[in-house]
Amino acid sequence: MINLWINGQHKESLSHRTSDVINPATGKVIRRVPLASRQDIDAAVVAAKQAFPGWRDTTALRRSRILNRFRELLEVHRAELAQLASEEHGKTLEDAAGSVQRGIEVVEFAAGAPHLLKGEHAENVGRGVDCHSMLQAIGVCAGITPFNFPAMVPMWMFPIAIACGNTFILKPSEKVPSCSLRMAELFKEAGLPDGVFNVVPGDKEAVDALLEHPDVRAISFVGSTPVAKYIYETAARHGKRVQALGGAKNHAVVLPDAELDFTADAIMGAAYGSAGERCMAISTVVAVGDVADTLVAKLKARAEKLVVGPGDCKGVDMGPVISAQHRDRIVGYIDSGVAQGATLVTDGRGIRVSGYESGYFVGPTLFDHVSTDMTIYQEEIFGPVLTVLRVDTLLDAIEMINRNQYANGTAIFTASGAAARRFQHEIEVGMVGINVPIPVPMAFFSFGGWKSSLFGDLHMHGMEGVYFYTRTKAVTTRWPEMTDKKVSSLVMPTLG
Ligand code: NAD
Repeated sequence: MINLWINGQHKESLSHRTSDVINPATGKVIRRVPLASRQDIDAAVVAAKQAFPGWRDTTALRRSRILNRFRELLEVHRAELAQLASEEHGKTLEDAAGSVQRGIEVVEFAAGAPHLLKGEHAENVGRGVDCHSMLQAIGVCAGITPFNFPAMVPMWMFPIAIACGNTFILKPSEKVPSCSLRMAELFKEAGLPDGVFNVVPGDKEAVDALLEHPDVRAISFVGSTPVAKYIYETAARHGKRVQALGGAKNHAVVLPDAELDFTADAIMGAAYGSAGERCMAISTVVAVGDVADTLVAKLKARAEKLVVGPGDCKGVDMGPVISAQHRDRIVGYIDSGVAQGATLVTDGRGIRVSGYESGYFVGPTLFDHVSTDMTIYQEEIFGPVLTVLRVDTLLDAIEMINRNQYANGTAIFTASGAAARRFQHEIEVGMVGINVPIPVPMAFFSFGGWKSSLFGDLHMHGMEGVYFYTRTKAVTTRWPEMTDKKVSSLVMPTLG
């Protein structure tokens, strides 16, 4: 049985509710996790609140040194974290290691805290008057994370919040709790004071307790759109700042002048990597003009060569999906695509992986001649299902994408600078790739979608992350002996 991590140590949950953590390649229960109760959340908030003043007043330079030691430990333990992520999520070890690396890059960014937290200063904003601003910590922050990136998505949040002088409570997905708990141990080993980082696996009860707790100041969320909207509305109603990242339906536009082998290879990884369980996965190809027949043939040839199996087996390209229920949901979507008249080019239903008959596998699936009124186009499938839609012009493609409710990521494949420039300007999506299929911004840029893919104002990591986890204070200063002007006046001060 897994424990909670509160005040720098493992702590037994006060809850009697538990959940099974399952290896999706075998279908076997590998450990059990408590589902934190309101009392557990109260205990975590008390620990985080008590740790806050000391941590806030620790210099940014000292905080940064601890983050640097944490980064070193993450590198030493990268393979172990990747193994935990692969075991509980199902993705391949190599893919899991790549995602741990992307998380480590956020820690590297956060370790720049002494520079990142510098405010602005202006001399002589009025005669003898100076003004400066500073970025100050908010207090206890909380993060709620999805199953699909057990290490990386939590690291989009807590390293920056903590670098900014806040304390943090992480509520990881109950399906993949182990990476978060291991990272908490490593952070302590790096010198983080007790109570600054707490981990409380749980479900809706724990989430609601965080959303409603008066001592929690900020909520970061990553997950599906309906839950993101609920989190945004509930946390805002309780007076908290919120960033709530939701689901996605990411389109790749392919123009006739694109280099098609390069494009087909890029789309393979983006569509089927991590069994399509990535919020930046390409799930829709928009083939422009006469490119579709050749492109679909190339995608089909590649999809049929992908090796499906357990994520920890050498040579496997694609692991299982997260649960039996999710597998059945994906198969239901494939059935609906067939029923609604799309052309099923490659069928991933009913795949059997020898020795892993109880695993939750779906093979790579490719649909052609999909239209925008079909369920497989309209809804997020979050599995290895790629749909191809055909349009006549780039403008048709742009209009189709801009009509979609989701707006996380998109990509265009072309040799034309003019087409790419038009696309990046007109497309209403938060992250855009030009001949880059999964345009996940580096840690020093910010990550976030638009429309139903993000509720809130600020994206994660990069400077937007720093602004989310700080409050700005502006200080205006005058030293009287430096000015001979009379200051007592009832008139609105204009300073000049
Ligand atoms: P989910 O919304 O089911 O769960 C996310 C988190 O919310 C988990 O910690 C879960 O315990 C909690 N939760 C679930 N239901 C809840 C409820 N009713 N009330 C309160 N809390 C609840 O998402 P998931 O299945 O874990 O992850 C997959 C989803 O996450 C996909 O939609 C994917 O697109 C999205 N995602 C988005 C991004 C992004 O950056 N936009 C990144 C990764 C994943």
